[in-house]
Amino acid sequence: MNNLLLVISGPSGVGKGTVVKRLLKDGGFRLSVSCTTRKKREGEIDGVSYFFMEKPEFEKMIAQDGFLEYNRHFENYYGTPKKFVLESLKTSGVILEIEVDGALKVKSAFPQAVLIMIAPPSAAELEKRLVRRGSESKEKIAERVSRMDYELSKSQYYDYTVVNDDLNECVARIKNIIEKEKEIRQ
Ligand code: 5GP
Repeated sequence: MNNLLLVISGPSGVGKGTVVKRLLKDGGFRLSVSCTTRKKREGEIDGVSYFFMEKPEFEKMIAQDGFLEYNRHFENYYGTPKKFVLESLKTSGVILEIEVDGALKVKSAFPQAVLIMIAPPSAAELEKRLVRRGSESKEKIAERVSRMDYELSKSQYYDYTVVNDDLNECVARIKNIIEKEKEIRQ
């Protein structure tokens, strides 16, 4: 596998989505759209943000070995469709934006995958961002904040950790990593 399988993780609200959009703009990568059983948030589009599905449909896909990895996270299933990733890697790089447990499963199946953790400048800053996003209740936000420590504790298993204090700098650092990793593969 010469094309890069790039796995981006980081606590909720850290700005992963924005970083990924910027990386996709340059071309060379396709974004894997995950399946999930969580409810659609305002502004999300089925087939673009996620493939939204009911639990039985998701479990059927598990039984059919349709996922590269999947995980139960915040009481919902999230999974990476296997076929899309494997097919896409034949012709381009692929980006997965997934949480840490799933990312580590990908790394054990594909040691060549490059895992990048996006870290917030501080826990307080992350909480502020989540509140500003305003899409979730206080309890849900507290749950997500407490998950942050767990996620960041796994960064030791990641190939790189990049702090998102400034979006442009964060994207530039990741682009450097991509270039370096491409060179290694040539
Ligand atoms: P959200 O509900 O905020 O969209 O996502 C919650 C978490 O699930 C995020 O950390 C996101 O990266 C992760 N996630 C999204 N898709 C997948 C997937 O296919 N597999 C796994 N393991 N995690 C995912």
